Amino acid sequence: MENKIRLEIVTPYGLVFSDEVDEVTASGSEGEFGVLPGHAPFLTTLKVGMLTYKKGSETRYFFVNWGYADVGPDKVLILADSAEKSEDIDVERAKAAMKRAEERLKKAEEIDFHRAEAAIERAVTRVQIAEKRRPR
Ligand code: ATP
Repeated sequence: MENKIRLEIVTPYGLVFSDEVDEVTASGSEGEFGVLPGHAPFLTTLKVGMLTYKKGSETRYFFVNWGYADVGPDKVLILADSAEKSEDIDVERAKAAMKRAEERLKKAEEIDFHRAEAAIERAVTRVQIAEKRRPR
């Protein structure tokens, strides 16, 4: 479709999203980037963060957990470890994950700090993005 971007978000758990949109913004490892139709092709890694797309007058928000973005003039393919639309984020689950990771961090021995910190980063980011639900 002309002047549109095919946004696809794929994770090992399945296809999370696929639609024609007008604009995409995502959290690249080197910083946030925006894509409009006709963008020059590039490939980048993603960090834990937010992906936003605009379609007409609506803006939607996704949590994206690491991965890659493959950008072309009329497509943005996101391959991520996990991803959820803001409305689908279970805040209680994220808070429980945060609590588990914090408990792991408190135990001085036999813990994987990086793993616990990464879990906290995912949980905190999920809670933040969950607040960006579209108005009902
Ligand atoms: P948990 O410890 O709660 O499983 P996690 O950060 O380890 O959290 P992930 O490995 O990122 O979980 O994701 C596993 C699957 O569960 C993915 O399908 C992801 O979309 C989903 N998921 C994880 N946390 C949430 C959440 N808070 N709300 C909705 N879906 C979630």
